[in-house]
Amino acid sequence: MQIYKVGGAVRDRLLGRPVSDIDWLVVGATVEQMQAQGFRPVGADFPVFIHPKTGEEYALARTERKSGRGYGGFTFHASPEVTLEEDLIRRDLTINAMAEDEQGTLYDPYHGKQDLDARILRHVSPAFAEDPLRVLRVARFAARYAPLGFRVADDTLKLMRQIAESGELQALTAERSWKEIERALLESEPQVFIQVLHSCGALQELMPELMHNSDSLITLHQAAQHQQSLAVRWACLLRGLASAAIKAINQRFKAPRECQELAVLIGEWADRADQALELAPAELLEMLQKFDVYRRPQRFEEFIETCRMGALPEDQGYPQAEYLRGAATTARAVDVKPLMDSGLSGQALGEALKAERLKALMAYRNR
Ligand code: ATP
Ligand code: MG
Repeated sequence: MQIYKVGGAVRDRLLGRPVSDIDWLVVGATVEQMQAQGFRPVGADFPVFIHPKTGEEYALARTERKSGRGYGGFTFHASPEVTLEEDLIRRDLTINAMAEDEQGTLYDPYHGKQDLDARILRHVSPAFAEDPLRVLRVARFAARYAPLGFRVADDTLKLMRQIAESGELQALTAERSWKEIERALLESEPQVFIQVLHSCGALQELMPELMHNSDSLITLHQAAQHQQSLAVRWACLLRGLASAAIKAINQRFKAPRECQELAVLIGEWADRADQALELAPAELLEMLQKFDVYRRPQRFEEFIETCRMGALPEDQGYPQAEYLRGAATTARAVDVKPLMDSGLSGQALGEALKAERLKALMAYRNR
């Protein structure tokens, strides 16, 4: 049997980027041989194994054929006869279809090195169109490697457009799509992900609500530059949309709870945060209560950061941020104990506490 390093590990080493996880490919082996060597199978009907010591993934060489709509609609054929070239041709991009043997010799039947040097993201074969997820993957790689000057090949973009127009993107599960979206948002140029999706017609299919929301791309870029969290980036992307649209996108991709929550809060409150310096103390208090800054200070902080990312031009700063932080600190500092000691409880206590907080915010405003 022959063992090769494949995919991202080969690509990123050639790019001089850190390699996070290594994918291995095994050619000329049977399932029985792998198990005899102590490899543990990952799943019952998938020819992938875990190395007993390193825990890294070893996949048997395989060919794939499309047998239905969407994912799941794939049949695999793994056998010792499948060659290296046959395995590599089913991969998405030429830069992802290179292999390296144990001596460090590069195997590159689809000219990935050439495309790597020319900074081009190019599909390996027409079979690219068989998995619509590849449209999102290409957009994600475009976002990741934008700082290196990569662009999508014209023919690949054309193919991506065909996939978008075929309606096949609708067959992707929320989970698979979100995984790509999440990884793309966390890249250094996440707005490129959206731009590439837009340029091939996939944005219209996946997130039509964002078609005319180009300001949010600037905001998203700011968020990446400031190393903001996933939730902040997601909320930046959806900022400016109507509440119903935000909820629809959240649900379409089953975004994690903290992402959903922050995006909805941005939709409802961002404008008032921008007006924070002019808000009456009662309005300020209403906001703090709604955010439950007493028990969820971190969420309010992410909200403020999202609003700050939207403030342009940046060199004018965003004094609202400090003002809102100060207001939250002021409201939180109101002590409930004296009120309880005076015999209040239940609803009356709640009302009194609110009144004290309002008084504190008035003083804060006039300080
Ligand atoms: P990353 O650095 O993001 O992990 P990667 O290239 O290693 O990048 P993986 O998702 O780990 O990406 O996949 C490993 C390899 O498997 C890819 O390089 C590619 O060759 C192939 N691959 C993964 N998913 C697909 C897909 N949907 N279609 C075609 N090939 C794929
Ligand atoms: Mg990988």
